[in-house]
Amino acid sequence: MNDKEKATPMLQQYLEVRERYPNCVLFYRLGDFYEMFYEDAENISKELELTLTSRAGTPMCGVPYHACDTYIKKLTNKGYRVAICEQLEDPATTKGLVKRDVVRIITPGTVIEEGMLQEDKNNYIASLYLQGESCGIVFADVSTGEFHVTEKSGASLQQDIIDELARYQPVELIFNEAFLDLKNVHDFIHNRLLVKFGEVLTEEQFAPANADSLLKQFVTESSGDLPESLPLAKKAVMAVFVYINDSYKNETPRAVRFFVHGANEFMELNLTTRRNLELTETMRNKERRGSLLWVLDRTHTSMGKRKLKQFISQPLLDHMKIVARLDAVEQLCKNAVGSGELCAALSGIHDLERLMSRIVYKVATPRDVYALGKTAEKLPALKEALGVFDAKLLKALNARINPLTEICNLVANAIVDEPPINTKDGGYIKSGFNQELDRLREITTGGTDLLKEIEEKEKAATGIKNLRVGYNRVFGYYIEVSKGNIDNVPDHYIRKQTLSTGERYITQELKEIENEILGANEKILRLEAKIFSEVRAFVVEQLEIVQDTAEAIAETDVLTGFATVAAENNYVRPDISLESVIEIHDGRHPVIEKILSDVPFTPNDTYLDLKENRLLMITGPNMSGKSTFMRQVALITLMAQIGCFVPARSARIGVVDKIFTRVGASDDLSAGQSTFMVEMNEVAEILENATPKSLVILDEIGRGTSTFDGISIAKAVAEYINSKAIGCKTLFATHYHELISLEKTNKGIRNFSVAVIKKGDEIKFLHKIVEGGTDDSYGIEVAKLAGLPQKVITAAKTALKTMEYNSKIELEETLEQEAEEQAQVSFTAIAQQNAIQRIRNLDMDNITPKEAYLILDDLKQSL
Ligand code: ATP
Repeated sequence: MNDKEKATPMLQQYLEVRERYPNCVLFYRLGDFYEMFYEDAENISKELELTLTSRAGTPMCGVPYHACDTYIKKLTNKGYRVAICEQLEDPATTKGLVKRDVVRIITPGTVIEEGMLQEDKNNYIASLYLQGESCGIVFADVSTGEFHVTEKSGASLQQDIIDELARYQPVELIFNEAFLDLKNVHDFIHNRLLVKFGEVLTEEQFAPANADSLLKQFVTESSGDLPESLPLAKKAVMAVFVYINDSYKNETPRAVRFFVHGANEFMELNLTTRRNLELTETMRNKERRGSLLWVLDRTHTSMGKRKLKQFISQPLLDHMKIVARLDAVEQLCKNAVGSGELCAALSGIHDLERLMSRIVYKVATPRDVYALGKTAEKLPALKEALGVFDAKLLKALNARINPLTEICNLVANAIVDEPPINTKDGGYIKSGFNQELDRLREITTGGTDLLKEIEEKEKAATGIKNLRVGYNRVFGYYIEVSKGNIDNVPDHYIRKQTLSTGERYITQELKEIENEILGANEKILRLEAKIFSEVRAFVVEQLEIVQDTAEAIAETDVLTGFATVAAENNYVRPDISLESVIEIHDGRHPVIEKILSDVPFTPNDTYLDLKENRLLMITGPNMSGKSTFMRQVALITLMAQIGCFVPARSARIGVVDKIFTRVGASDDLSAGQSTFMVEMNEVAEILENATPKSLVILDEIGRGTSTFDGISIAKAVAEYINSKAIGCKTLFATHYHELISLEKTNKGIRNFSVAVIKKGDEIKFLHKIVEGGTDDSYGIEVAKLAGLPQKVITAAKTALKTMEYNSKIELEETLEQEAEEQAQVSFTAIAQQNAIQRIRNLDMDNITPKEAYLILDDLKQSL
């Protein structure tokens, strides 16, 4: 016999439901608990550290239903999908086994419950549909309704998909079977992304038969267009719709907003660069503190926090859009009082986007609706504070913020202040909102008064002074009359119970009141739920207006935050130039300057263009500030392109299309790659993808291999990037002083170094970037500073002297030989070119055979 045949009817029901959801953990509702049985129980009890028990040999474990969010969050974080199986009938009124079924599948990418989401982070599910050389891509945040849509195709398809995944960092993936062929993308997903769950969907799910009704359900007039020119993206969108309906097990309308992204909208940043520049978290500890986001986040709302993260992840390329943001920030900076008022108006604004999604998905509590109402109350003040500014962008944002007056009034009238978390006991609809509800409440609270009234009335009518109205669980309400007064009992009294001391009766009136009192509580609960769903439905009708308002508030919040950061940290407005130039005076690193507490940050200048100053070769001791300088140039450029002021005295920034960084050494052993292999992979990616409009940061190329191999690679890479093959703005830090000589032979390469003062054995870092190269790394001095034993330091110095002497001679010989070979190669090439040209120029009709012979002889000599 298998488990099912042996099982009790309840367990049979469990197993039957379980079978239908093979990819999920089944949370099976039993009273106040969600229970798991068999293998799920054994497995999940370990994952959630629950006690594993057993009933009649069946392993089981459970979680209380009112605290299930925490457990579900833990499971979805670990990559599980949880199917919630509820009781579909009231156990109190059902005979036999209660009907149960799955009402919701909770997956990492479709959750919308507050407790399961991070307020400052979008929660994306990615849907990818590959066909031939093209891929439709959607990143959908179900909790906010945003659908970011794009299509990629062409030779760099895999890299483009990888860059998109790096930008949005989805927690869950759905894709078609063909997508499995993209090996590089899968390696990336497997090794580098924190995706919790991925699933192959069928063709039917990408092209569902009910496409039209899905579009009606999800798309409204204000959703924006999903262009016909993106058929694959459309399929990917459809799959998300199908997946959401399948997760929520219902098909209620839910408006989404499409953001269709073209190829040239945002700066390209690969995952390595995002991590190296520590845009949203630090490299080492993955902490927010120490990242650019940490410095720039002076927002007041969760929506603003998420929007800021989007801004940082998607620097703009459009000159006009960047300038519009900068104009707004400048106005906010200039009017400190006005922006102070704006900050005050923004604080206390709740997460409209997610509140609205919960309301639409019918998981909102009265607290959510109350929070929405409270936010609506603040909107007129916000609009007034924003109305002071007349920068184009701020005006446009203000126009999009709707004061939501009707919602505000409805919620204020319908929902009590500070409603209870739990709706089980009612009490969340305000008195005075609904007459019937007020009457029922009166009955429950005034029930005892009513009974007292009846007692007095009956006493007067019958003349029985000790007549008493009472209650017991078996007979309900009754009128009790003592033995001596039974003769005075009127005819309409119905005898119910005989006692030794007297008789108990009921009357028609008492019966009706009893029914009312006993039924009132239940009726109240039902009526409150009905009123609540009507309020919710009213709010849902305004979904598009609320969503648009929410987005405008989020953007206002980010721009106001930029102004606050600029004022607090002394940032300036960058001049966005149409020239391909980066010119920074007294630039600072936005994060390091905040972290340094005991010493001031030393500002530095930068000048990069596409002519004489393309590649800055930066040499200097360890710890002198090379990496800091290079990153600060990248960060200032990025900050300018998100519309933020920058840490500098002045900055002129020509928009860059991509930033690449190759920084430091890191193993990716989990991906089966050594330090050097990782380094070379990253360099290869840069050389393949950088364009003349890109900014490249290379921090120590060729360190992971032998010195001569390393120098050769570094030299070749520098020359290649500086040549016409790419020719983009580049910062190149190196400890190979041999590379200083490239300045002489390569137009566009300029030497810079970081100044230090050396006194005897001691060195002092000045952190100042100065023109010219240096030929000393002071590595041993830095090692001494770090506390290496003196014996080791002395031995290292002796070894260095010997090696420097030998390798100098060897290297000079190598470079000399190389130069000779190169000169020879080019000499022969020139001679050949000349010979060809002479033949081409010959006038064959006017030449004698003798002359032809002489020319031929001459040509032979020249070769
Ligand atoms: P290495 O060659 O060993 O990688 P580096 O030259 O790249 O070193 P950084 O890592 O940039 O050096 O800087 C080392 C430390 O020096 C920083 O952590 C910071 O504390 C300090 N520093 C760097 N630049 C400055 C500056 N401009 N002003 C003040 N302090 C600075």
